[in-house]
Amino acid sequence: MALQQQLYSSKKGRCAMTQSRNHRPITTLGQGLTEMYRRHSPRVLVSSIVLLAFIRICWGHWTVWHPVLIAALLPLGPPVEYYFHRNYLHYRPRTIRFWGRAWQLPDLAGAQSHRLHHADPDNPQDIFIPDCIMRWIPCGVIGGCLAVFGPTLGIGYALTAALTILTRVLSYETLHYLGGHCPHYVPKRRGLWRWIILSVRKRHRPHHLVNEHYHMQVASFPWWDEMAERIARRRGRLGAKIPKSGTARNLGVIIDRQGAIID
Ligand SMILES: [Zn+2]
Ligand SMILES: [Zn+2]
Repeated sequence: MALQQQLYSSKKGRCAMTQSRNHRPITTLGQGLTEMYRRHSPRVLVSSIVLLAFIRICWGHWTVWHPVLIAALLPLGPPVEYYFHRNYLHYRPRTIRFWGRAWQLPDLAGAQSHRLHHADPDNPQDIFIPDCIMRWIPCGVIGGCLAVFGPTLGIGYALTAALTILTRVLSYETLHYLGGHCPHYVPKRRGLWRWIILSVRKRHRPHHLVNEHYHMQVASFPWWDEMAERIARRRGRLGAKIPKSGTARNLGVIIDRQGAIID
């Protein structure tokens, strides 16, 4: 894949970034899934889910409360997605003053990867969860669920919870890629899948192309986005239409090839 260094200009800032122009246009589901499973994050997620599902089936002890636990966990997806995107992926290292000295807080790997994603939104290299984070997610989710649910509800419920969360993360990766960043892929048959893909596209592309401060939700019903817009309108910070931002591609900073802020 040919890489070239580009200097980006906008009204409020510039961004030195690595950009690839050789994106293969994805027009079918098969092409999209093939491209997706060449990437590290979907492969790790699918293998973890298959292995965990096997362990969960062997463990047994099913009760009617397992679907209740799944139904209770799913509504947590939209707020988690919103706050994770706003506060972690759009994080900027700040300087804090303590004991008369200025301390520079460290940058975060996820935020650096997300700056590269905004710089070249349809580049599959930067769309998925970066490797350095992905390698901790399956262990973190399974360990966290065993710690939270194991002592109280039992290991069977902990495994069900971990399986639900990892499947939700995989659905996020799939919809973010196919819905948000494969603009040539439109499912031919009318139905739920086509509606989901077009809904994700309608809301996520303006986050990259119009204004990076809005449309933070990607793969869930946009309840929290709409609430944030309503609050901004009530406070007079937002008009009827979301205005075009000059920094949707560079997030207002100059970055290096790894997404770290230079200026
Ligand atoms: Zn995106
Ligand atoms: Zn973003």
